[in-house]
Amino acid sequence: MADKQIERGNMLYEGKAKQVYAAPNKDLVIIHYKDDATAFNGEKKGQIENKGIINNKLSASFFRLLESSGIPTHFVTRVTDRDQLCRNVKIIPLEVIVRNTVAGSLAKRTGQAEGTELPEPMVELTYKDDAQGDPLITKEQAVSKGAAEPEEIDHICSMAIQVNGILRPFLLKKKLKLIDFKLEFGRTSEGQIVLADEISPDTCRFWDAETNEKLDKDRFRRDMDGIPEAYIEVWKRVGDYSVASVAE
Ligand code: UDP
Repeated sequence: MADKQIERGNMLYEGKAKQVYAAPNKDLVIIHYKDDATAFNGEKKGQIENKGIINNKLSASFFRLLESSGIPTHFVTRVTDRDQLCRNVKIIPLEVIVRNTVAGSLAKRTGQAEGTELPEPMVELTYKDDAQGDPLITKEQAVSKGAAEPEEIDHICSMAIQVNGILRPFLLKKKLKLIDFKLEFGRTSEGQIVLADEISPDTCRFWDAETNEKLDKDRFRRDMDGIPEAYIEVWKRVGDYSVASVAE
């Protein structure tokens, strides 16, 4: 696909893995995906070769799939290898974590072995606050912090479960198990709540369906080898999803 010509304005925000730039229309932004990787609340820092390119393309594929399945997202179109045009949203300060299998902080917190299948997918909320280490919070605490209204939180959690219901079987067909993932939501200028941020091996745990090999940022967190190769493998399996490519 030829790169589209959309002019990037001033940088509005820089995060750990992405930069956000103004776009020609104030209701849109350009999100630029970097190779920078961090873990453990920014304590571990590094770079993963070409991660920005792969995460931009993978996120675009997942957002297109979700949009075509009825989930509203911030995604508009991918403009270059590292840039995508998105709706300008105000991020709701919650990380919405969906889990199918025990891993990561859930294994530490509960003592359940990593890899234990959960009887039902579960949703957890953390409050986005680096100084506090993104603490786990209840829905009521999220309301009391002013993150969102109770009905909005119910809506967000129900969308997160729907996202899992779409991504999990899609990935299994590509021989990837979706262990868990983190979503963020935002509000558009019209007040609509849409899925935002990214969906990539930085924000999801993907295991090979046959061998349980880790194909995500856990390789970076745990100082394992083959980090760029794992991201490439996920991209090879998922590919450039578009409604047209599926209809053909
Ligand atoms: N996650 C994320 N950003 C965070 C915390 C978690 O994208 O700041 C993702 C993580 O990659 C995993 C899921 O959310 O897919 C659950 O992470 P967990 O709570 O187990 O925390 P971790 O073990 O990653 O610290």
